[in-house]
Amino acid sequence: MKKQEMHYCQRCKQATMQESHKVNHMVHLLMSLITAGFWLPVWLFLTLFGGKNLNGKNYRCCVCGTSNA
Ligand SMILES: [Zn+2]
Repeated sequence: MKKQEMHYCQRCKQATMQESHKVNHMVHLLMSLITAGFWLPVWLFLTLFGGKNLNGKNYRCCVCGTSNA
């Protein structure tokens, strides 16, 4: 599930469409199957710590790809 919102991009110097960073559980499920479970610790780590940095606001510009906190 990708959430897109308008946010100011520090690189573009203007408001652009940006994607919020969230753990994509389908990708991790696939990776876990491919690696026979070796990916599970990574998945767990990202789920616990991945989305909590920078007050939960972490967006990536769809125009230039820069992450904007
Ligand atoms: Zn940008």
